[in-house]
Amino acid sequence: SGFTVAIVGRPNVGKSTLFNRLLEQRKSIVDDFSGVTRDRQYGLCDWNGKIFNVIDTGGFVSRSEDVFEKEIRKQVKIAIDESDILVFVTDVTAGITDLDDEMAQVLRKSRKPVFLVVNKVDNSERQLDATEFYVLGFDPTFFLSSISGSGTGELLDEITLRI
Ligand code: GDP
Ligand code: MG
Repeated sequence: SGFTVAIVGRPNVGKSTLFNRLLEQRKSIVDDFSGVTRDRQYGLCDWNGKIFNVIDTGGFVSRSEDVFEKEIRKQVKIAIDESDILVFVTDVTAGITDLDDEMAQVLRKSRKPVFLVVNKVDNSERQLDATEFYVLGFDPTFFLSSISGSGTGELLDEITLRI
């Protein structure tokens, strides 16, 4: 139970890096809730005393591209069902891919709040490239570098405003 945020997006955009970042921000450590399932990871985040669940999706492996995409769609569906907010992660170094577009369509239909994260925005040049993602039309949109943690505070502020 409790407020739940699901991190979704195609492989390699940095979902798990962001997931670990968010858990790291906790001021108090509550570890017994976190656990690993076959294709999802659960954790608790504490931001200024507001606590919520975080789900990291996409920890599966497949060799076939068709099975792969089908699996991603399945996981997005589960994430939509289980969460109060969807954090849709994309990768500025890859630009908007077909799979991003496809996922964006599914997420728009979900009627849940979708926060777009343009990840890997590590420098000012990439900040400029990231503006391309506004075309996806998600509000709010965040430019993040999950590797350095820049931008995660703004994301957490906006999430905890909704709790
Ligand atoms: P996932 O498949 O979406 O869970 O992606 P991962 O979290 O496993 O990250 C995929 C790759 O992207 C790894 O090599 C990460 O180190 C890298 N990565 C993640 N976030 C960032 C970032 O903000 N900047 C850069 N440059 N690389 C990142
Ligand atoms: Mg991952």
